[in-house]
Amino acid sequence: MKLLSVIVPCYNEEENVPFFYEEFLKNEDFFREKEITWEILYVDDGSKDATVAAVKKLHANDERVHLLSFSRNFGKEAAMYAGLQKSRGDYIVIMDADLQDPPSLLPQMFSCLEEGYDSVATRRVSRKGEPPVRSFFARRFYRLMKRISRTEIMDGARDYRLMTRQMVDAILAMPEYNRFTKGIFGWVGFKTKWLEFENVERRKGETKWNFWKLLLYSIDGITAFSTAPLSFAAVMGILFCVLAFILIVFIVVRTLIFGDPVSGWPSMVCIMSLISGVQLFCLGIVGQYLAKTYMEVKQRPIYLLKEEL
Ligand code: UDP
Ligand code: MG
Repeated sequence: MKLLSVIVPCYNEEENVPFFYEEFLKNEDFFREKEITWEILYVDDGSKDATVAAVKKLHANDERVHLLSFSRNFGKEAAMYAGLQKSRGDYIVIMDADLQDPPSLLPQMFSCLEEGYDSVATRRVSRKGEPPVRSFFARRFYRLMKRISRTEIMDGARDYRLMTRQMVDAILAMPEYNRFTKGIFGWVGFKTKWLEFENVERRKGETKWNFWKLLLYSIDGITAFSTAPLSFAAVMGILFCVLAFILIVFIVVRTLIFGDPVSGWPSMVCIMSLISGVQLFCLGIVGQYLAKTYMEVKQRPIYLLKEEL
């Protein structure tokens, strides 16, 4: 018998917890046929509603349901990491509680593993039901990442992924604080099969992401998997040095020919403010990396557990 660990990060998902369980159970016949036992690890990411109670209710009836509860909201990345750490399965799958990652795909995913893949990942091919502005920037982000990072990060990739124990151990060997799982999956490598599916809207409740949070998350992703912005700052510096040199020559020559060194005060102000803007911008880029390094060297725990069942 092989064990499948299902990791379900939950933040204020009291309504979805039982739905997810029901929907997942629809695969029972398939699991029996394949001789697979399973465990579900609901990771409560410091929910403010009755998520914990909902999981406890399931746990009371079915000992295959487990609960990990955080002391506060640490974010989905931390929840996934905790789940991976506590999972014992030969196979591990991460799924959203809101059923946007359809459990009905599992049999197909398992058949891909049998073909010899180490991991089966999913990506949505449509972004139906999402605000168009968000889709636009999401596309831009993936395109940018493709250019500036050597790690493969797929457009529309979800965290819904079935993995072998070997791959999960590789992921756990990366205990970095600033986690960007989509990048980590790509970084560890292994043979990955991509399945595509149409976007499914969440069952109950609302998404926890707004535009601002996603923007910050994308900056996390860029700093975690690319140092291109640092090179960009250096290139900007060189460009402006060259420009300044040309300007110096121009002004010296002009003064020698026409005299009047005082005129040109407005252009001076423009140039100075432009250059100081660029300087601050580049300093900001360096600061981003410094800040990430600072958080990393502190070596704070990625999550704190309050309760475990
Ligand atoms: N989630 C979490 N911690 C958070 C935010 C979200 O564990 O701080 C969980 C959430 O409960 C859900 C999954 O991550 O199971 C995806 O969240 P959501 O549906 O809000 O994101 P979306 O599907 O809109 O990208
Ligand atoms: Mg969702």
